Amino acid sequence: MNGHYSDYLIIGGGLAGSSAVEGIRVLDGDGSISIIGAENAYPYDRPPLSKKLWSGKKHVEDIFLHEEAFYRKNGVELIIGSRTAAINAADKFVTDAAGERHYFAKLLLATGAVPRTLDIPGGNLDGIFYYRTLDDYTRLRQRTSESRSAAVVGGGFIGSEIAAALRINNIDVTMIYPSRYMCDRVFPEDLGRAIERSYESRGIHILKDQGPAAIERSGSGYIIHTSAGQSVASDLVIAGIGVKPAVELAESAGLDTGDGIIVNEYLQTTQPDIYAAGDNARFPYQALERQMRLEHWDSALNQGRHAGGNMAGAHEPFTYMPYFFSDLFEFGYEAVGEISSQMAIVADWQKPYDTGVLYYIRNGIVRGAMMCNLWNRVEEARGLIRRKAGANERLHPPARADV
Ligand SMILES: Cc1cc2nc3c(=O)[nH]c(=O)nc-3n(C[C@H](O)[C@H](O)[C@H](O)COP(=O)(O)OP(=O)(O)OC[C@H]3O[C@@H](n4cnc5c(N)ncnc54)[C@H](O)[C@@H]3O)c2cc1C
Repeated sequence: MNGHYSDYLIIGGGLAGSSAVEGIRVLDGDGSISIIGAENAYPYDRPPLSKKLWSGKKHVEDIFLHEEAFYRKNGVELIIGSRTAAINAADKFVTDAAGERHYFAKLLLATGAVPRTLDIPGGNLDGIFYYRTLDDYTRLRQRTSESRSAAVVGGGFIGSEIAAALRINNIDVTMIYPSRYMCDRVFPEDLGRAIERSYESRGIHILKDQGPAAIERSGSGYIIHTSAGQSVASDLVIAGIGVKPAVELAESAGLDTGDGIIVNEYLQTTQPDIYAAGDNARFPYQALERQMRLEHWDSALNQGRHAGGNMAGAHEPFTYMPYFFSDLFEFGYEAVGEISSQMAIVADWQKPYDTGVLYYIRNGIVRGAMMCNLWNRVEEARGLIRRKAGANERLHPPARADV
């Protein structure tokens, strides 16, 4: 065999990839582990990139998932700044960009997701941020120190968080999105509109019901022309218009892919020695009895760990119910289960649009719950979903900010 060999080879140095090390080491203290990551950074947490790094609650040195000693102690060879180009599933090796082979006994694809880009004239202009990485944060941070205004395209998770982050750093922010209200995929309309009002009260301009139609350069900044005929001049453009799962490698290996890399309940792909976990994996969500792909921190953390354990021989089905969270100025939430504004939503507010629980109902059964400014209630919400609670059931005690 000409090349490098690992018992466990992990492609992707993000949350799922680095968490897999923990899962492997629970069962196998000796097997060789390598992580190959395309980014030129040790594995780090992404949520602070749009939140605490901007509010000053965290600094860059705080966001790394592990110290260097963790990798040393666990005998992990961490190869960063190296993109894997292809997988040969039959002969069990991957090839990196330099053509070097890395052989494996078990392989984990933890390649995450990549931002969608704007398919409009000017959508590929230099300097537009498709925000995802620490490198994006560093460059945006540097640019904000010399900028006054920003256009944020997209009213979902990333757009709404980045808009808030820039505003608290005194940037004049205009949000542009095609939907009728902010975070329209998860919030009921009245909550979305209430959040929009709180954004506007903080001086954020909102252009909704219209997407960007074209972007052009203007001096050192940009002009964004919207589909409703408006024009916005800004120093910066940041787009948060969703991500797509990184499936090219899996495709190169002939693995089944759809919206993500298809895995079974053990997080194995259609090649049993190749696993996938995190934002790239489409998995059977057991409690909801459906296939899903999640783009959330807790999902990547737990799937990564679980896949690591299974690669090391645990062979246990993944039954965990990941939660997700977001912070929009003072409005924060944790949510679990199936969360979609297309479902029937029952709101149990203690303080309207601030503190309470939203129950997401399908066919008279609670399928998801969003706890707004209420903390440590996720496990109870999981219980409701697991036992298929009826639409009238509530968390006990009911929503209270102070419990
Ligand atoms: C700004 C931001 C804020 C977020 N905030 C929240 C939040 O508040 N709550 C929440 O629940 N979730 C949040 N998320 C989502 C969460 O961070 C992701 O779900 C999580 O990072 C997914 O982890 P992952 O390991 O699957 O993928 P990633 O974190 O995307 O890591 C994948 C890694 O694999 C590398 N890679 C890809 N292809 C290759 C290749 N061919 N060769 C080598 N390396 C490769 C990539 O470069 C990347 O480093 C946020 C995400 C972002 C970007």
